[in-house]
Amino acid sequence: MHVDIEHAQGRVTFTLQPGPGEDATRRVELARRTTSFLVDVPPGQVHPDLLVVCALLCARPWVRPATPFSCAVPASRALADAVRAGPRLTLAHVVDGPARAVPPDGRPGLCFSGGTDSVAALVLLPDTTHSYHLYRRAPEGERRSTMMDGRAAVQSCDVLRRRGRAVTVVPSDVEYLRHPLGFPHDLTTAVPLLLHADVHRLDAVAWGAPLEATYRLQRGRFRDYAESPFVAEWGPVFAVLGLPVCVPIAGVSEVVTSAIVHRHPLGEAAQSCVRGSRLGRPCGRCPKCARKTLLTSAVSGRWPADRALERQWRDTESRQHLLDEPMKVEPVLAHCAHRYLADGGGSTLLRLVAAKSGPDPRDWLTRSYEPALDLLPQHYRSGIAQRLHRFAHPMTAEEEAVVRGYDVTVPDAGRAAAQDELRRWMAAHPARDLLMRVWRRGRRELRLLLGPALRADLRLPGDPGHD
Ligand SMILES: [Zn+2]
Repeated sequence: MHVDIEHAQGRVTFTLQPGPGEDATRRVELARRTTSFLVDVPPGQVHPDLLVVCALLCARPWVRPATPFSCAVPASRALADAVRAGPRLTLAHVVDGPARAVPPDGRPGLCFSGGTDSVAALVLLPDTTHSYHLYRRAPEGERRSTMMDGRAAVQSCDVLRRRGRAVTVVPSDVEYLRHPLGFPHDLTTAVPLLLHADVHRLDAVAWGAPLEATYRLQRGRFRDYAESPFVAEWGPVFAVLGLPVCVPIAGVSEVVTSAIVHRHPLGEAAQSCVRGSRLGRPCGRCPKCARKTLLTSAVSGRWPADRALERQWRDTESRQHLLDEPMKVEPVLAHCAHRYLADGGGSTLLRLVAAKSGPDPRDWLTRSYEPALDLLPQHYRSGIAQRLHRFAHPMTAEEEAVVRGYDVTVPDAGRAAAQDELRRWMAAHPARDLLMRVWRRGRRELRLLLGPALRADLRLPGDPGHD
């Protein structure tokens, strides 16, 4: 794979050229060859190592480990060593230049999505933190559409700005590189931050990933965060860039991040739904909205009517989250279902969710798994720990042991019986959103066909627009 990089005024463009024998349909299809990021950085103001890592994060699915990765700018030897040690790739173009120096008066950067976890991470980071939001925009002539709507997240950024926080919105078409649409790599959301790291003097890269993701409980079984892609694979690479990885909420669950945004003024910016057209107006139908209803109710103790709850979980995607083994973000669902039953709720569906997931994990789910704090950059560790402990007390040694022993993938007769009953309930209560899905898809495609005139309201201040 060779990647050309062009940094003109206001824009950095990456052009991917797979080499002979490199399969452009490997894992996911490479649907386009070029992607741009609209930036507020003069040409020549980005360290070459930052550009190389950005190129890698755009092209990663199509890079064959056996073939050296070639890039229009050379990498330092230190970066080449880190890329070999972490993601186990070889860089073709290496020089003896210096690696990026850590700015002495730096501040952290946060990859900001506008979701609950992002906002909770920001609450725990220093007030000087600069947030970067990757704003999806379709390339000219693109016909593929997505259900996601980026307008609410841009409004979240406005809220941060109004509250005196530094935010940069970076429009990009990077999600259109692949088919089906999506980020080429989990860490591609860091590219806007990496491109601004020098001009904004950043000294850490932060994400809002909670316990369920960092320790992979959402896959049903504990895996140490130290072995995650954030730390084991890409940790050495970000460290060479002078941007050690910082995940402030790595040791707390969504139950805690929900409580943080519920209690903190910055919480006004949080919206997990990526389909609603405005901040404060989530779609109310997607799995994230269904989970959000449960979490908010569990925190406040006020529950919607049983039928309203069940209606949210009957739709095509949401029902699959409950039928999956394990359920999507199972510990959170388990806690919410138990809390609902304890509050006197009568829904059969939630009774089955509680039965499938076993005992209420509340005790550890509302506390902080302290080993996660050891992996924070040292100069931010005590400040983050102090803020975090205002919202979640440390787990006891026994609770930490329960987290490490978490495993819902072992066969269990009670669980299997509840799963059978859940399947029967779903069969008796079919999804009702099929017609609506067809209608919404048609409407999205019509919008794309009608093109720029209708999309004018999506332009951002300072956005050069389509050219
Ligand atoms: Zn939604």
